[in-house]
This record gives sequence, C-alpha cells and structure tokens, in this order.
Amino acid sequence: MSHDPAHDGLAPATLAVALGRPARVPGAAVNPGVELTSTYAAPEQGVGYGRNGNATWTAFEEALGGLEGGDALLFGSGMAAISAAASLCPIGGTVVAPRHAYNLTTGLFAEYATQGYDIRTVDLTDTAAVVAALDGADLLWTESPGNPMLEVADLPALFAAARERGVVSVSDNTVATPLLQRPLAHGADVVVHSVTKYLAGHSDVVLGAVVTAPEGDGPGLHERLLRRRTLHGGIAGPMEAWLALRGLRTLALRVERSAANAAELARRLEGHPRVERVRYPGFGGMVAIEVAGGAAAADATAAGCRLWLDATSLGGVESLLERRRKYPAEVLTVPENLLRLSVGIEDVDDLWRDLDAALRASA
Ligand SMILES: *Cc1c(COP(=O)(O)O)cnc(C)c1O
Repeated sequence: MSHDPAHDGLAPATLAVALGRPARVPGAAVNPGVELTSTYAAPEQGVGYGRNGNATWTAFEEALGGLEGGDALLFGSGMAAISAAASLCPIGGTVVAPRHAYNLTTGLFAEYATQGYDIRTVDLTDTAAVVAALDGADLLWTESPGNPMLEVADLPALFAAARERGVVSVSDNTVATPLLQRPLAHGADVVVHSVTKYLAGHSDVVLGAVVTAPEGDGPGLHERLLRRRTLHGGIAGPMEAWLALRGLRTLALRVERSAANAAELARRLEGHPRVERVRYPGFGGMVAIEVAGGAAAADATAAGCRLWLDATSLGGVESLLERRRKYPAEVLTVPENLLRLSVGIEDVDDLWRDLDAALRASA
C-alpha cells in the first residue's frame, strides 16, 4: 500500500477528503476511475484477475486504511468481511463472543457453536468476565457501541488482555466510525466495518471492509485476510467501491451532524412521558429507546412516523428507526419494546416533532 508522507499528521476529517486520489501529475483526474474489468494483461504481474484486486477498491482501501491507521481490504458486504475475520479462528477453536452484537454476527457464532467450535458468550461491559473467558481462547470479538443495545465496552482493557494471552482481537467499528473511535490505536488486531452504513453513508450500496494493524514481522493477518477474500470470493463491485469512496469524502460532516442530532434527541427523550428508558452511549449517531406500552406501542410509534422511516440499517443521511425484536433472530435479552434509532442529518426540530407526535399517538 502506498504511503505518502504528505499525509502524516493530518486530522481524520482531512484524510477522508485527501486519501485515495490519483497521483498529482499534470492532466491527472481528481478522482479515481471505475475500473470495470475482470482480467488484466500479463497476469503474472499485478493483481492478474478481478477477484484478486481492483484499482477502485485500492483507492477506497487507501482512504479507509489511513483513517483507521492500518491496512484495509474491501469486501462485498459487512458480513463477508465479518466471515473472513471470524475464519481467523482455527477450525474447532475458541471464540469469546458478545451476547449483544449485530444479529447476523451473533447468528454466525451460533452456527459455529453447532460445528465444533467453543463459543464463550460474554457481556462485553463486564470487563472481568471477558478477561476470565480469554484464557485458552483463539479469538475475541467486540462490537462497541454494540447493536442494538448501544452498550459500551472498555476496549483498551479488553485488547490488552487479549494481547497478553495471544488471542487475536477483532473490533466491529461500524457504529462509532474511525472519526469517533480507532480500535487499532487501542490495541485491536483487526477492525471490521459494514461500509454499507456510515462510511458509504447514503443507503445505496452494500459493502464491507477489514483493517489490520501495521504488522512489521507480526502474525501476517493482512495476508491471511486477503487470501480469505480471494478464497471465499465475496468481492465488491467496482461501481459500489467508487460510490463508497464518494460517500466517505463527507464522512466528517455527516458524522458530526448525526452525532449532534442524536445527542440533542437523547436529551429531549429523557423526559418523554412515553419513553421508559433512553440508551445513548454518549457519542455517535445511534440512540435506542424503550417505549411505554410494550411491543405494540413501539410498533405503533415506528408506523406512525412520517419523516423517520421504519427500515433496517443505519448510518445513512436519512433517519431510520426499527423495533429489533420483530426479528425472530434477535437475541432475547433485547427488550421487546426497544426501538433503535439511526439519527440522520436532517433538521433536529423536524426529527423531534415527528418522533414526539408518533410516540404520543402510540398511547
Ligand atoms: C449492518 C451491520 C453489519 C453487517 O453488514 P452488511 O454490510 O449489512 O453485510 C455488521 N455489523 C454491524 C454493526 C452492522 O450494523
């Protein structure tokens, strides 16, 4: 991966704009092209074939790698990236996995448990319990803030404990984004992203990524994940990669506005007569609320919004909300009446009026 010393010491908001551009030579385009090709001349040089690499992926990978402080690989979805990272655990090995996380991540480890792996399910907010579970483990999986409960783990303590025991640590950083949290700087070995969410930011692509810490002569995780991408074949389309890089250019603006809106809505929701509990991690664009009146009132709230859209996903410019327990696959410790809010970049008073009216009408 090319390293340009001109980018050393720049702030994340600048890196999101500056990285992944063509070289500054006379006549060069400002943006990378969309490299639509399945094969390349002289395959013994370069990537050779379109499953192995692509110049549009590389541009996105340079930008995301710079933001997270490591080496990035783009995948065809967040789950493709997660499956590749999970497969760093040797077959039949031991994974310390969170009780609450994105529901297909918990679903993946539930499936591993039926295939001879030892899955130790932990409450990530209980640092002592997680550390106790690490002895003899191969992989630690973290997601903080976690879906959909928005619980916050002590990531530096968990990564340090994993490192001491030789356990590979993975951090799903989708919800925080590298603008608000950089797990590699806190000692994680691998970051995974659903690029679909904040990084691309416009609900128009499904993509994923892994980022590994700079390794020196370390354990070769980047090489292993690159090999997994090629073997699993879960690759991105060049057009989607280009759209994600375009979305990434405005990451700082979008995250700042979403986070400011979320903080303000969390504050107003605290005193709301129809809200039993507000879950807000203190940063980022996600809030979860427990609606008075149970699942039916939560469903009525979601259905009663005119601006907020009742839809799955998060991290786009538009505000979405969803009752997670309507999915049979959701973990049973997630409350029935919990609505997960992904706060977009709209005017905060418009968002408040719409949500407040739907909550009041749900009584
Ligand atoms: C959406 C999501 C995923 C899965 O990513 P896809 O791009 O939908 O495959 C994984 N982790 C988190 C935290 C997510 O929000």
